Amino acid sequence: MSDRDPIQFVDLKAQYAAYRPEIDAAVHAVLDHGKFIMGPEVAAFEAALADFAGVAHAVGCSSGTDALLMMMMAEGVGPGDAVFAPAFTFTATAEVPLLLGATPVFVDVDPDDFNMDPADLARRVEAVNAAGALTPRGVLATDLFGLPADYAAIEEVASANGLAVWADAAQSFGGALGARKVGALARATGTSFFPAKPLGAYGDGGAVLTDDSNFADALRSIRAHGKGAAKYDIVRVGLNARLDTIQAAILGVKLAHFADEIAARERVAKAYDAALADVVRTPVRRQGRRSAWAQYTIKLPADRRDAAAAALKQAGVPTAVYYPTPMHLQSAYRAHGDGEGSMPVSEALCGEVLSLPMHPFLTEPQIARIADAVRRAVA
Ligand SMILES: *Cc1c(COP(=O)(O)O)cnc(C)c1O
Repeated sequence: MSDRDPIQFVDLKAQYAAYRPEIDAAVHAVLDHGKFIMGPEVAAFEAALADFAGVAHAVGCSSGTDALLMMMMAEGVGPGDAVFAPAFTFTATAEVPLLLGATPVFVDVDPDDFNMDPADLARRVEAVNAAGALTPRGVLATDLFGLPADYAAIEEVASANGLAVWADAAQSFGGALGARKVGALARATGTSFFPAKPLGAYGDGGAVLTDDSNFADALRSIRAHGKGAAKYDIVRVGLNARLDTIQAAILGVKLAHFADEIAARERVAKAYDAALADVVRTPVRRQGRRSAWAQYTIKLPADRRDAAAAALKQAGVPTAVYYPTPMHLQSAYRAHGDGEGSMPVSEALCGEVLSLPMHPFLTEPQIARIADAVRRAVA
C-alpha cells in the first residue's frame, strides 16, 4: 500500500491482506466440515480467548449487545432493579437493562478518561437508596475507547452497597489493569467482535468472560434457548444467541495476532501523543491502566470541533464523533434521566470529542499526515 492511498478510519482490508492465507484456510475448513452452528472452532476459540484474558471461561455469543444481555439475564436482573451505567457510552449499555424491564440509572463520567466517575456513582447509588423505589442490583461499567474503567474504586462503592460489578468491555478487550487483563476485572465481562472493534469478526459476534463455572453454565444455556442437560429440556427463558462457527474460525486466526496488534495500536497512540499533545487534549494515561485503543479520541473546544472535523475531511482524514448525545438525552431513554444539565461532564464531552483514525496498520508517514492535518485544522 502506498502512503498516498486514502487513509482509512479502521483498515480491515489491510488486516485481511496481512492474514489472508490463514483466514481463507480457516473459513474453508468450516465450509468443508459443514458444522456451521457450534462447530469445533467455537470451543477452540472460546478456550483461546479465556486463556488470553486469564479467566476460566469464555462463552461466545452473537454480539456484544447479546453478551451484555446474557450477563444480565444470568444474574436475574429484571423489573424493579436499578442498573448503574455511564451516561457517556454506546447505546447498548443503556438498552440492555431496559430490555429486561430493569431501570438504567445514569452516572456521569470523568472528563479526562471518559469512564464512569466513581464519586458520582456513590452519589447516584445513595439517591436510589434514599428514594426507595428501585432495588440497586449492579454496575455496568464501560471501558470507553479501550481504557479500563477504575474498577478498584467502582468495586469499593459496589461492595459497600451490595452491588455486582459487570464490565462492558466491547471496546477494551486486549487492555489491562496492572497484571490483570480485561475479562478478569469484573465478575462478568461482555465483549464485542463487531468488525471495527479491536478484535473483530467478519460479522457480528461477542463473548462473556467469567471465572464462575455456574455462571458460565447459565450463559451457555441462555444462548441456546435456555436448554438444560438435554437439548429439548428447557430450564429457563433464553435466546438464540450463539457465535457462528465461521466467525469463531476467523476470530481464532485474528486472536493469534492480537497481542502484536495491541502493541501496534499503542505505537500509533504514542506517535499521535508526541505529534499532538501541544495543540489538542490528547487521551490521558492512567498509572497501570493499559488501553486497547479502540479509539484515539482528542478533545477540542466545543465551538471548534465540528469545523476541525470538516477541515480534516477536506484533507482526506476521516474522523468520528463518539458520541454526539449522552444516554440520558436520547429520546428513547429520556424518561430515565433528569434531562439537560443532570450529567454535565457527559454533556460537555459530546461537544468536544473527536476520534482519529486508529488501527494497527497505520504507517509512520500516514500518522505524520494525519497529525499534520490536525495541527492545521486547529491552528
Ligand atoms: C460496540 C459496543 C457494544 C455492542 O456491541 P455489538 O457487538 O455491536 O452488539 C456495547 N457497548 C459498547 C461500549 C460498544 O462500543
